[in-house]
Amino acid sequence: MLGGTVVGVDWEWVLDCDEVVASRRREARAGIPAPWPSWFPADCVDAVRATGIHQPWQHQVEFADLAHAHKHAAISTPTGSGKSLAYLMPVLAATTGNAAPPSGQGARPRFTRQRPTALYIAPTKALAHDQVRAATALAPSSCRITALDGDSDVEERRYAREHASFVLTNPDMVHFSMLPNHQRWASFLGGLRYIVVDEAHRYHGMFGAHVAGVLRRLRRVCDLYGASPTMLLSSATAPNAATFGGRLVGESAVEVVDESTSPVGPRTVALWQPTSSLRQDTSRLLAGLSDDGAQTLAFVPSRAGAELVSVAAQEQAGEPARIASYRGGYLAMERRALEASLQSGELRGLATTNALELGIDVSGIEAVLVSGYPGRLSSFWQQAGRAGRTGQEALVVLLARENPLDAYLLEHPELIFDAPVEHLVLHPENPHVLGPHLAAAAQEHPLTAADARWFGDTTVDLAEELAGQKVLRDRGGRWYWTRPDRAVDHINLRAAGQKPVEIIEHATGKVVGLIDHEAADRTVHPGAVYLHQGEAWHVSSLDLEDGHAFVSRFAEPYYTQAQSSFDIDSLQVVRRRRVSGLELTLGRVRLTSQVTGYLRRDEVTHEVLDCTPVDLPAHRMMTEAVWWSVPPALGKALGWAPLEMGAAAHAMEHTAIGLLPAFAPCDRWDIGGVSTPMHPETDMATIFVHDGLPGGSGFAAHAFEVAQDWLEATLERLEGCECVGGCPACVVSPKCGNANQVLDKDKAAQLLRALLQGG
Ligand SMILES: [Zn+2]
Ligand SMILES: [Zn+2]
Repeated sequence: MLGGTVVGVDWEWVLDCDEVVASRRREARAGIPAPWPSWFPADCVDAVRATGIHQPWQHQVEFADLAHAHKHAAISTPTGSGKSLAYLMPVLAATTGNAAPPSGQGARPRFTRQRPTALYIAPTKALAHDQVRAATALAPSSCRITALDGDSDVEERRYAREHASFVLTNPDMVHFSMLPNHQRWASFLGGLRYIVVDEAHRYHGMFGAHVAGVLRRLRRVCDLYGASPTMLLSSATAPNAATFGGRLVGESAVEVVDESTSPVGPRTVALWQPTSSLRQDTSRLLAGLSDDGAQTLAFVPSRAGAELVSVAAQEQAGEPARIASYRGGYLAMERRALEASLQSGELRGLATTNALELGIDVSGIEAVLVSGYPGRLSSFWQQAGRAGRTGQEALVVLLARENPLDAYLLEHPELIFDAPVEHLVLHPENPHVLGPHLAAAAQEHPLTAADARWFGDTTVDLAEELAGQKVLRDRGGRWYWTRPDRAVDHINLRAAGQKPVEIIEHATGKVVGLIDHEAADRTVHPGAVYLHQGEAWHVSSLDLEDGHAFVSRFAEPYYTQAQSSFDIDSLQVVRRRRVSGLELTLGRVRLTSQVTGYLRRDEVTHEVLDCTPVDLPAHRMMTEAVWWSVPPALGKALGWAPLEMGAAAHAMEHTAIGLLPAFAPCDRWDIGGVSTPMHPETDMATIFVHDGLPGGSGFAAHAFEVAQDWLEATLERLEGCECVGGCPACVVSPKCGNANQVLDKDKAAQLLRALLQGG
């Protein structure tokens, strides 16, 4: 550009590309500042001002005032709207001990003479550490802030218990360590004024139900020590934030501040239909924008994808060294180095998995590429919100994946631009979750009927049931845990929890990287090409038991793609019932998955070079499922080929699963489905809808109860959807393990109608 100052960057060329099918621009909006709350101590104001924040925004003060008046409250505003300062104001005021007393209204907590304390809970360790840094920067020196997690040593734990005024931790630590040892935490818990639950929207589904159990136990134990902390939630926008927040913390609802008054910069969101391939277009945009000087993040769904995008972008970029990749599984040192160079601006382009969504707060990002719709609108906006954090011009490009869901969204841009984000689903009363937490609560302090105050109406029934199973002992209306082991050790908040596999260079013994146990089969099976930081490694062996994979350097022009098989067997019938003419079964099943081989593909053309079988163990999971089959007579009458029957069953499975959350209080990601055109046991087309967790989580059982309404609604949706040939509103599922291949909406409707009519 001649004769002018270049401010920001020029990405008009992106919007001029033919691949852009729609775009929407949001104009900049000024923020609405407010004066500091009168109760916020002067030394705190000084400390915050010293960081460059001269005045808070109106919504921050609104939330802080609610918190200061001891109202349980949620702040539910977009990424980057300053939620941290909103909850830190009351926390700092209370824990520095200089706060003016709250003015009359509201329930006044029973304060003890103990030091005033606050607890912060984040879903990940990394985020808690990030918040320790943020809080330390904003707090006056009198506030003693510390992180508490699995890495804290004995001395750090003692410091947290005995001296800290603000402890930042995660739900696992509260569950496994703080609550079972609550006597040692008595002085900290007795002084607790606030419990901050950050990223509250992460606590949905089963994990959410567990965290809800932990929070109820925590509030109950605080009560034993005379404290009634105010619950403060910070979450992404959700239409039902008040009731969701209430369910999470154990109240009927919480107060909500959901209108952000912080300034927003101008932002353009564009929808992109790739012409070559998703990966090529993502890397082309990443290289082009980085060369233009725009700091750009590309969100790529898989780890391998992020590596490949960064390699391809480096090849096209003017300054390849300024582009890198990031994902979970990097070593802590590598991760910190990447974060630092992103923050300094030295790194211009980064291809990342959603591991970046948490844990680091980078403010200079100008452009975000979302490579493939992430499955939920809330996740999309979360990723988009990474751009333009400091008010600069921002660009967001959603690149469609080659699947019907993304294609459908690009045909209906209003579903991206104007649709409300999803409701948050949470069912803390699920007896499969609440029961074990009641047992843990009983070990923490004997349980009585009065504890329904914390755990809800089903408390007594469940406690009696646990006593019947000899888990608890009933002694005159008080239930005790009398077993020698720890009740908390029977509860896994996150379900999956095996230690990651170390990837080791054969020649040197050096650890190259880490990978989740669950993903190891697919990623580092023998013969796999493993990509790390843009370098390719060839895997020679994998030992899942020891948690090691051995690799050596590799420079051939191909990559690999794992192939797997999936199977389901019914083990035991629990109940059967008729739903109109259809026979429905509830039972225990065994799911088996196995990586059976891999394809070698040309790095450039992606052509399949060959297919190699591998010998890896099958992974089994026992859980609960509901299922129904096509009776032989009906199968015969329809006269369909196996492929047609399979397509009908598969489509029916998707629609049924998609609709189940409307009838059973579960998150659709907590359940799964399998359909087969010819199940080996029944010799008939069979549709299974199963719990997503080992041992079952109660959703399949609930589905069995509500099957009449549920299956009728499934039929209504199949017959009523106005699309031609199936769409995400009927049969297309973002969770499909078979990439939505072989679906037939019309035959699914025909088949289900016939089933319900009894053949
Ligand atoms: Zn449709
Ligand atoms: Zn499917």
